[in-house]
Amino acid sequence: MINKLKVLGEYIQQNEGDSNPLGLNVTLETANVIVLDFNITNDKSCFERIDTIEFDSSKRKEILYKNVPGNNVSPFPTIFFDKTKIGGSLEKLLRILKKCKEDSPALKSLFVVYQNALNNFVKHKEEIDDDNDLFSFAEKPSKNEFKNIGNYVSNDRVEGTNNFITNLCTIRINNEFIGETSYFQNIINKFQQSSDSEYYKKYGKTSIGNDIKCYTCGKIAEKLYGFCDTFKFYSANEEAYIAGGFQKTKTWKNYPVCPVCANQLRLAREKLNENFNRYFYGNKYLLIPVATLDKCDFYQDLQDIEEEFHDLSLNKEQENNRLRQMEMEDDVFETLSRQKDQATFTFLFYKASNSEFKILQEAEDILPSRFQKIIEAKRIVEDCDEFKNLKGLYKKGEFHNLSFNFGIIKTFFPSSFNNDFLDISTKILKGQKMSKSFITHQITEHLAKGFRNEALYHDIEKAMIFFKFLYELNLINQTKGKTEVNMENKYEDYFQKHPEFYDADWKKVVFLTGVLAQNVMDIQYRERKATPFRSRLNGLKLDHRAIKRLLPESIEKLEQYKSNYYRDLEENIALLMESGEPELKLQSVDEISFYFAMGMNLNKQFKTQSEKGENNE
Ligand SMILES: [Zn+2]
Repeated sequence: MINKLKVLGEYIQQNEGDSNPLGLNVTLETANVIVLDFNITNDKSCFERIDTIEFDSSKRKEILYKNVPGNNVSPFPTIFFDKTKIGGSLEKLLRILKKCKEDSPALKSLFVVYQNALNNFVKHKEEIDDDNDLFSFAEKPSKNEFKNIGNYVSNDRVEGTNNFITNLCTIRINNEFIGETSYFQNIINKFQQSSDSEYYKKYGKTSIGNDIKCYTCGKIAEKLYGFCDTFKFYSANEEAYIAGGFQKTKTWKNYPVCPVCANQLRLAREKLNENFNRYFYGNKYLLIPVATLDKCDFYQDLQDIEEEFHDLSLNKEQENNRLRQMEMEDDVFETLSRQKDQATFTFLFYKASNSEFKILQEAEDILPSRFQKIIEAKRIVEDCDEFKNLKGLYKKGEFHNLSFNFGIIKTFFPSSFNNDFLDISTKILKGQKMSKSFITHQITEHLAKGFRNEALYHDIEKAMIFFKFLYELNLINQTKGKTEVNMENKYEDYFQKHPEFYDADWKKVVFLTGVLAQNVMDIQYRERKATPFRSRLNGLKLDHRAIKRLLPESIEKLEQYKSNYYRDLEENIALLMESGEPELKLQSVDEISFYFAMGMNLNKQFKTQSEKGENNE
């Protein structure tokens, strides 16, 4: 994992220039910069004039404009200038300058000049109708052209778009911008050191090693940091370390990282957080693209991937919209499958709370062709008649086709089984076999609960499509059994359509018993508007004995209602039972119950038009 991040960080560093150690805004392409020009001579400052320049990327390192979250302020006096809140913007600049003069005393007089000017502005604010209007600098009030800062604001739009041009405001001292002037060198150095210091300073301890191998690149470095916990994977406060006699100041011994790697890891983290952070059914994951070969042009691929992914960010609100969520999942998979096999993708499912970053599951090195396979499997299983035109599937009263998506898995593995859900999802992504009995158990539990509450909302179809999908991708083993009974009827036609499910006589007999039992209940309902036969089904937890007794019990009920239209079905069940019983006895309650539930669910499919009125067979 850490190597993947390192490689990614290398590409970013090589291509995005000098690793942006100051964390400057690198996305801004154009802006109008309002420049406040100061002169400092012999510790005395004065304000000269207001100027504007046009911002372009070549000026990034002069202007030093940083995006700063929330109420924090940048260490450098370049701000986003809000033209609707000129006073507030200028106040912000004051706060920054106040900090600057603490680190660089030579800026003290400049701060005073600025403060006076601002006080003057605030004092006269009430006389000014429009906040945009006047910013009168106390030092040189005579120069009228400097009074109206509002006049320097751009109200233009960015060419070809509807967006207004960004206004920035910065200072210039003796004709040099912040990035050029010696007055700010201290502040820049200090910022750089303190941003590195997170790699070696913690709990008031310093952890720096010398002249040993870097954990990440393997090169011997003069200086190595001990607290470089990029995503807190290698969290230096883990109990295990402490139990092993771990000393905080010596962490560089456990996990020494050289400054170059530390920086690259940070770049990778920033990139991932910014563009490859996604939601997945209540979970978050980072998608990590990695070049399959050492390619010098991978950065271009990375940019393409970034671009394609831009609109595929599933946010929390969309998560509640099931149709939208499915589309999104399809889009992500299709986008990934379209990538040439020159990149692999790693899904890092994680949970972040406070300072902890916990990896829940990791699906490493998935090739685009794998996503292609998943999409194909999805299409094949969705093509079954059983999954078409299901009423009330996604919306009450409406008909939809059931599609396979990871949300189906979530149906059977809800949030209390989130680890299992992620485990299964990861195995699907990686193409790893999984335990069929575990999945069957979970599904049967869910179906039994739904059966008890009489609330099975197409859950059997969902279970079927899930299994079909797993069979299609060969992720669960088929357990072929004895098939001796040859039938030629509509039931056998159905079995032939789903050979992966019905490859043993015992499976067929359980399924058909389910069909028969549901037929009994349908007739009961027709006669009595109630289905007392349900109580014979053990809450849908059935073993081989239950299946065996259900045949005579069903026949008895049907005779009782003088409605035994199913003699052919009953005979087939008897035949299959004879052949399948020895194997049936070996099956788990889960397996048996699942086949039975499928039969119950699909009984209507085998009724002829006249049977639907339950008149004759
Ligand atoms: Zn290194």
